[in-house]
Amino acid sequence: DKVREERMAYLAGEKRIKAVTVCFTDIEGRLHMLDYDKKFLLKSSDNLTFDGSSIRGFSAQAESDLRLEIDWPAFYWLPSDVFGPGKVLVFGFVLEKDGTPYRADFRARLREATEALYAREGVVMNAANEIEGFLFKGRDAERHYHETGAFEFISTGGYYHSLPTDELRHFIDRTAEAQRALGFCNEKDHPEVAPSQFEMNYKYAEVNIAADQVQLYKLLARQVAAQMGLTASFLPKPVAGVNGNGMHSNLSLAKDGRNLFHEAGGRDGLSPRAWDFLQRLLANAGELCLVLNPSVNAYRRLDPHFEAPNQIKVSPTDRGSMIRIPLGNEHSARIEVRSVGPDANPYLLYYTLLRTGLEGPGAEPEDTTKRPRTRFLPDNIQDAIRLFKASRLLADQLGEDVHAKFAELKLMQAERCPKALGAIVKACEIQFH
Ligand code: GLU
Ligand code: MG
Ligand code: MG
Repeated sequence: DKVREERMAYLAGEKRIKAVTVCFTDIEGRLHMLDYDKKFLLKSSDNLTFDGSSIRGFSAQAESDLRLEIDWPAFYWLPSDVFGPGKVLVFGFVLEKDGTPYRADFRARLREATEALYAREGVVMNAANEIEGFLFKGRDAERHYHETGAFEFISTGGYYHSLPTDELRHFIDRTAEAQRALGFCNEKDHPEVAPSQFEMNYKYAEVNIAADQVQLYKLLARQVAAQMGLTASFLPKPVAGVNGNGMHSNLSLAKDGRNLFHEAGGRDGLSPRAWDFLQRLLANAGELCLVLNPSVNAYRRLDPHFEAPNQIKVSPTDRGSMIRIPLGNEHSARIEVRSVGPDANPYLLYYTLLRTGLEGPGAEPEDTTKRPRTRFLPDNIQDAIRLFKASRLLADQLGEDVHAKFAELKLMQAERCPKALGAIVKACEIQFH
């Protein structure tokens, strides 16, 4: 454990650091942060405990105490102009009291699944997230939505239309700087199609890192926005009538640095392995949908009139299809899963996409006597919950208890907010993620 020794020695010697923020993610995708005093942490890093019962979906009935194991390589200095001086953050794994992995911690389970794949075949999964968000007026716009009944845009411009002096531009620049400080390899940043909407793109990474980057991206954007007296929102469809927020997930497999999804003469530039992977995702798309779109509000977004998909199909061009095949070469050949909202739990998302793409049941052979029928994603959370609950595949992947727990939490939300219809987004749809 060289990294652990190094990081601990570094912390011990770095006088500016007084406390360490340890993070984990609950089953619904919310990032939780515990600040441990540095001296305490250095003394007891093998024995960090917390009360799991205060975290929704995270408590076993009788036992509420859980443990945290620090994942020392996932250690970040937070930029002081955004977070204040001497702030560091490290991700952790959640463990049971007895030290075994906690089954609802998908950060650990994604790690397990990718390690198993690597041990079996020497293959790694790479992922790139395209996270969109809105910048709204007011520091706590999501929490105050029920009082105000509306979100106020910060800019009216659309795609590429912002001036350097715009607050949106200013926000994007500051957030991109903060991302660079955390090791993101930024590629391009721009205002998106809807007013006040943004997207920052950065290079793909090994999927465990890519999942952490989702949580960091949202944390940084929210923090920068709050500093400016504004709110960064990652609700899939905060405002009806304009584009929503997607989190397109670009996936590929690689071995010894070679992209296994690329094949020069292959259909749409993809290899049979890539086609096999994406066909398995399509074949099980209905049951996966709740993991990709875990909120009432997310189902408002899945509308092709707003560049968001609702069809279970693959296409190189049609943005209304669940999977797109972007133009690629030997490095960038990949599949783009477009039917994902930014409020999905990134660890659970990649865990189920990986396992389904590798080993999910394939499609039924097509009945060639009939015209192929277009299949659609569920257009409301109730249907998505039904498909998820009835899914043997997901019960096996998640484990019966975690599968049931997730369905129960989602049902609670669906019942609190029965219908997401009409032109006004209801306050009950607004969730902080
Ligand atoms: N905002 C669209 C969505 O909800 C995506 C637009 C794009 O293609 O970048 O998925
Ligand atoms: Mg976009
Ligand atoms: Mg995209």
